[in-house]
Amino acid sequence: MKKAVFPGSFDPITLGHVDIIYRSLELFDEVIIAIGVNADKKYLFNLSQREAFIATLFAQESRIKVVCYEGLTVDLCKKEGAQYILRGLRNTTDFEFEKAIAQANTKLQGIETILLYSKPEHAFISSSIVRDVLRNQGDYSFMVPDTVRE
Ligand code: ADP
Repeated sequence: MKKAVFPGSFDPITLGHVDIIYRSLELFDEVIIAIGVNADKKYLFNLSQREAFIATLFAQESRIKVVCYEGLTVDLCKKEGAQYILRGLRNTTDFEFEKAIAQANTKLQGIETILLYSKPEHAFISSSIVRDVLRNQGDYSFMVPDTVRE
């Protein structure tokens, strides 16, 4: 059984993330969306809100699971029996960042990272832009799934 962990902050989950998750179901039997908990990071949405947006959105998808975790993503992969880490790529900045982490993770635990390109129409979407628009009372609805919109 091919399992992948899709780690991220998901503060909040966006249509870019959702698209990567659905497309990855073609490649994996199970996808575990893993919400990172980093004590040093300030989030706009608390952990239970971030989890609820995702859990509600994928409630009908038996092959998608949501977990929250602290510590190394590769340790979570071992715990969950996942052979792969899934990440999304929007641009060359993402590429350089992902390359270093992917190489470190392979060295650490032999876990391979599978990268999927974002769709062109999602390439500009990031959780930080959504947070910025939201804080300034702008329209963020075209960047997020229904569960966040509501
Ligand atoms: P992190 O804080 O780990 O970067 P994010 O929640 O911002 O967490 O992103 C998680 C993953 O989703 C990363 O691989 C990121 O590149 C990818 N991602 C974010 N936004 C998009 C998007 N619009 N299209 C495709 N992938 C995306």
